[in-house]
Amino acid sequence: MTGKHFMIRFGELSTKGDNKKQFIQSLGKNVRHALKDFPSLTFQVTHDHIFVGLNEEDEEAVLSRLQEVSGIQRISLVLPVEKDIDKIAELALELAKKENGKTFKIETKRIDKLFPLKSYEICVKVADHILENSSYAVDVHNPDVTIHVEIAESSAYVYAHEYPGCGGYPLGMNGKVLLLLSGGIDSPVAAYSLLRRGIKVECIHFAAPPYTSEAVIDKLKDLIGVLNVYQPKIKINVVAFTKLQEAIYKYVAEPYCITIMRRMMLRIATKVAKKCRALALATGESIGQVASQTLVSIQTINDVTNFPILRPLAVEDKVSIMNTARRIGTYEISIRPYEDCCTIFKPKKPKTKPKIEECEFFEKKWDWASQVDECVSSITSILMEDGIEKVEEGEAL
Ligand code: ATP
Ligand code: MG
Repeated sequence: MTGKHFMIRFGELSTKGDNKKQFIQSLGKNVRHALKDFPSLTFQVTHDHIFVGLNEEDEEAVLSRLQEVSGIQRISLVLPVEKDIDKIAELALELAKKENGKTFKIETKRIDKLFPLKSYEICVKVADHILENSSYAVDVHNPDVTIHVEIAESSAYVYAHEYPGCGGYPLGMNGKVLLLLSGGIDSPVAAYSLLRRGIKVECIHFAAPPYTSEAVIDKLKDLIGVLNVYQPKIKINVVAFTKLQEAIYKYVAEPYCITIMRRMMLRIATKVAKKCRALALATGESIGQVASQTLVSIQTINDVTNFPILRPLAVEDKVSIMNTARRIGTYEISIRPYEDCCTIFKPKKPKTKPKIEECEFFEKKWDWASQVDECVSSITSILMEDGIEKVEEGEAL
């Protein structure tokens, strides 16, 4: 191995002993995919690191892609060198000179326990070489430059720069959820939070044409296109919800419409989740944000399913959700004006403490079960891959 490499250190691995192999395999695959636009890169996956050989590729561009791959703790720009203390010290001196600092310290990690010098001895030898051949002084507390020396099994590495990764788990390690995706600000941020934790998402959206327009679907595609950076293939299941929604407004007293509509959404989503082998549902709900998101409401809505529901934004405030949306690039898309089936049929006075028995009373008034089945069987799916749409009209799940 020669030339500049990015050395990738794994994320929350220490807590996942048994899963190490799967963690490394998934991360290796995801790193390769994230860097597929850089043809000259080389990859080497070892037990402790992933190495990306830069060759002629742009350092900064590669780094910024790597910083978006979940499961990476830290990224160092390293130079491999023979496991020979004189060569290591010489390379450390070269790096220190390039850094143009006044003070330095050496940090050594000795993974290869058979290397003849102990960590402390390596530090002393390398530091002495720098002190003898430059005007640098040692400052172990607050140095201008930290030179890292790592003695691994197959090679030694010297580096002066380290960058943070985004942590978390590699995508796909923690199963898949079915996310209820509206065109708003919250649900794409919820998707992002899940992806960061290694959880894949598939989406379900409830559309109510002609009350909601095709522009909403374009918006969803654009939102998912942004999220494709983190998960290259994402499917959106679009449910034709109009008939069921009209029935709700025919049979249910206005203050209960939203609650019952959400119960129907969860009934449909649960059936779809089973079909697409998702292990849980997820929403962008945040406690207290609106009438349907009080804890009492959430309990009444939740009552129709025994599927776990993840709510990654449950206790986040709106400002921080909006900041995340801006940072990941979904905000500008989310604020485009749109009609959601919830906003169109919004009652003037929704119940903030809806009762389960009341819901069951209204739900006895018509055969909603067959409408739920009809919604499930008439789903249209859209597959977004690397920001590009692949429509699979009427595809059976
Ligand atoms: P968002 O910004 O995600 O739309 P919101 O603050 O507008 O959230 P609501 O409209 O009450 O909140 O929706 C709460 C959650 O319910 C959403 O985050 C989403 O998970 C789900 N949801 C709402 N409308 C739809 C829809 N039309 N299709 C699918 N899911 C929906
Ligand atoms: Mg919404």
